[in-house]
Amino acid sequence: MPKFIFVTGGVVSALGKGIAAAAMGALLEAKGLRVTMQKLDPYINVDPGTLSPFEHGEVYVTDDGCETDLDLGHYERFTHVRTSVFNNFTTGKIYNNVITKERRGDYLGDTVQVVPHITDEIKNAIRAAATDEYDVAIVEIGGTVGDIESLPFLEAIRQFRYDVGRENVLYAHLTLVPYISAAGELKSKPTQHSVKELRAIGIQPDVLFCRADRALSADVKRKIALHCNLDLDAVIAAVDVDTVYEVPLCFKSEGLDRLLDRKLNLGHLPEPDISTWREVAKRIKEPKFEATIAIVGKYVGLKDAYKSLMEALIHGGIANNARVNFQWVDSEEIEAKGAENFLSEIDGILVPGGFGSRGIEGKIQAIRYAREKKIPYFGICLGMQTAVIEFGRTVCKLSANSTEFDAGIKDPVIYLMEKWYNHRTGKIEERSINSQMGGTMRLGAYPCVIKEGTHAHKAYGKIEISERHRHRYEFNNKYKEILCNNGLIVSGTSPDGELVEIVELQDHPWFVGCQFHPEFQSKPIEPHPLFKGFIEASIKEKRSLFP
Ligand code: GLN
Repeated sequence: MPKFIFVTGGVVSALGKGIAAAAMGALLEAKGLRVTMQKLDPYINVDPGTLSPFEHGEVYVTDDGCETDLDLGHYERFTHVRTSVFNNFTTGKIYNNVITKERRGDYLGDTVQVVPHITDEIKNAIRAAATDEYDVAIVEIGGTVGDIESLPFLEAIRQFRYDVGRENVLYAHLTLVPYISAAGELKSKPTQHSVKELRAIGIQPDVLFCRADRALSADVKRKIALHCNLDLDAVIAAVDVDTVYEVPLCFKSEGLDRLLDRKLNLGHLPEPDISTWREVAKRIKEPKFEATIAIVGKYVGLKDAYKSLMEALIHGGIANNARVNFQWVDSEEIEAKGAENFLSEIDGILVPGGFGSRGIEGKIQAIRYAREKKIPYFGICLGMQTAVIEFGRTVCKLSANSTEFDAGIKDPVIYLMEKWYNHRTGKIEERSINSQMGGTMRLGAYPCVIKEGTHAHKAYGKIEISERHRHRYEFNNKYKEILCNNGLIVSGTSPDGELVEIVELQDHPWFVGCQFHPEFQSKPIEPHPLFKGFIEASIKEKRSLFP
């Protein structure tokens, strides 16, 4: 059984609990430990798949096709954990399981209650991810202590220590230490209140992460330790940093790894090797080059909807020693004013994933601009589909569209495939088009075979890859011949050749569209090859920042 670290948050939301948990995971991995991470979310949706990304942030997709919370993306970026259906549980999923059991008669006439039935189900969920192959399991509880919704989760983690032994569980709590400018001081009171709230439900934190916009003096730390009943070295300052990838370094310099060793009895472990994180932070903070990338989408103001994408672009920059500047372009603005107005100063253009017809024509105009002006272009999922539509229309003179945007279009170059072979599961998948949710999606990891001599091949350096999907519509093979005869290259397909996964252009510096979401597999320490290639092409002139 692994050791468990439960991470809760207090005072306000959005303090970066997911990052803190993930950075702690990175630090433990740097000591040679095997780490798994899990998120328990107090909302009632069974999974985040149906939540609006513009309200809740992006839907992160796992290899096994689970639609999960964006914090799982942080976990995969900071550690080597491969998340799955067991790494994210919501209140909805927990209740769903309990109600299914109740209907089946599993409880043998018991009155089914929050304690013990819901809390037992939560504890089962925690155990499901924490298998023996790991040394440490980090479990993050969503929400803020004091919320009604998170109470059953907090009760479950309280019981968990009782069940598995004091020495096997550690509670970490993230709080805010605000600076009050009128007083010229950092204030510890909100932290004290938050810890008091936790203690009222039976949890005494072992470690406090104190978010602050400036360093915590020894006095402030002492005060927090005294009032919150903690060892002085258990008060860890989590001061604002330039890049989130510095957080493992900050935690190390605050002595977190030694504290975890001691509190969890991890044995005499080596000093963590954080040299790769140091290199990552250095490359972000002292870049040699830069590239400005236009991201052409709708509602571009809500950055959390594109979390993994932005991180993957930054990783592409890390791989090339380059700073990536983001230029968010609303595709409806392009429709109104033309692509030239927004894209003439841009080094690379990217159309990300998306759903629905709003702003589609603006995206198509942006792609035409990238293709004709030979500006590096990267199309992801919808961005690949719209690239095929643009090519079909302008170059092949087709009346092309996706049936998602025009059901009766004459040349449906992108359409709903009714059946396809899932090489991962060995099963034929059938798309139920009339379901309430809008039809079955192709979800999760699928193998792809790459054609030699293409941009994709150059980027990946291999033939067989696996990438994650989340979409309904597909490239229509009926149009493959005419599109390819006019210069489109299909550079990646499913092993049976039926599903087109990557398209690109030959007489262009870098024009690649992929049906999958490569951003889900990119890490700062292992930048994704396509993002690396795209950024490399975008800084082709090698305009140095420091001549
Ligand atoms: N709307 C498109 C589809 O369903 C693209 C989805 C996406 O970009 N994730 O196929």
